[in-house]
Amino acid sequence: MGSAVAYFLKDMGFDGSVLVIERDGTYAQSSTALSASGIRQQFSNPINVRISQFGAAFIKAAPERWGVDLTLRENGYLYLASTPDGAHTLRENHTMQVGEGADVALLDRAALAERFPHLRLDDILLGAHGQSDEGWFDGVGLMQGLRTGEYIRDEVVGLDTFGGKITNVKLASGRAVECGVFVNAAGPRAALVAVMAGIDIPVEARKRTNFLFDCMDPPVGDLPLMIDPSGVWCRPEGKHFLTACAPMNDPAVAFDDFEPRHAEFEEIIWPALAARSANFEAIKPIRFWAGHYAYNTLDQNAVIGPHPDIPNFLFANGFSGHGLQQAPAVGRALAEWICFGEYRNLDFSPLGYERITTNTPLLERCVI
Ligand SMILES: Cc1cc2nc3c(=O)[nH]c(=O)nc-3n(C[C@H](O)[C@H](O)[C@H](O)COP(=O)(O)OP(=O)(O)OC[C@H]3O[C@@H](n4cnc5c(N)ncnc54)[C@H](O)[C@@H]3O)c2cc1C
Repeated sequence: MGSAVAYFLKDMGFDGSVLVIERDGTYAQSSTALSASGIRQQFSNPINVRISQFGAAFIKAAPERWGVDLTLRENGYLYLASTPDGAHTLRENHTMQVGEGADVALLDRAALAERFPHLRLDDILLGAHGQSDEGWFDGVGLMQGLRTGEYIRDEVVGLDTFGGKITNVKLASGRAVECGVFVNAAGPRAALVAVMAGIDIPVEARKRTNFLFDCMDPPVGDLPLMIDPSGVWCRPEGKHFLTACAPMNDPAVAFDDFEPRHAEFEEIIWPALAARSANFEAIKPIRFWAGHYAYNTLDQNAVIGPHPDIPNFLFANGFSGHGLQQAPAVGRALAEWICFGEYRNLDFSPLGYERITTNTPLLERCVI
């Protein structure tokens, strides 16, 4: 996110100096490096659909812009619903998504069976499948493309405020940097940085373990990223498959706790996948890693834009597992705010901090 803001500031011809402060230049534990790098149009809030529409267009234009193909595989996400409530939600989301121009199709059981014959569908009432601009891409490639300008390896450890503004950023090295605008792009550590300015933000580190598995008898065809009603998701990754689940217990974890939850594969993922497809009965994990979602406990959506009382403190926080695809639109929006004092392309005010202070969640009903 920090790189995305810096990139768009340059793109817009911002004439001030821009500094990205990064405590870990390897990015080894950043959400970005540990992400599953998916992009979807299937959200329940129009602002998130629009954000991802720009994300998809930006990713697709990478060859012309950077001479790099970010290999967007537009196989779509396939949400499956097994209850009348779930099917109703898919229908409601679909109406809104199509109204926003998203290319999403509803598939009944017969249509699902024809399109994805490997799936066991006895319990499934409805599916929603993205036909374009939805799938997965080279997430690290996106970050590399966005990295522009001046970076220093240091840690923000304090913020000075004066007259309702951030004036100085204090770094672990002892250096202090004067600042006109401060963007909090600290990922899962966002709350640690916000509190340096006396600000509370309900963002916690939540652990998600991703498993790459080998399948003895893989299903054939252009498979989507399938989201089972159990919360388990699965998609192809080269000749293997990538999968993860919503954990049964999901506490905030320590910022340095990256121990994978191995049991999730045996206890949650494998039973759900085997029940969904005979092809997933014989599968074996070959790699796994844990990363942290920057989880917004209010509504699992991003918090973007200025703090109402400290207007030069900007949030780019709380992405709750869907931030990589949002980086281009968020970077552009915050750069607009910095350059022009307003959003010019997409109105990000629904994602503003005010909903935190007024306790008005913008809940997302289309989750993964
Ligand atoms: C397992 C997993 C799967 C995911 N799957 C998807 C997906 O399919 N699609 C999608 O869109 N998103 C996905 N996400 C979410 C996505 O990866 C994140 O929302 C996005 O990468 C967030 O970027 P960020 O820049 O906010 O955070 P990060 O990438 O975590 O970057 C924050 C940076 O801030 C630095 N930092 C923190 N504190 C300080 C400080 N005090 N001083 C200096 N530097 C500091 C950190 O070192 C870090 O490098 C997933 C995340 C995980 C963990």
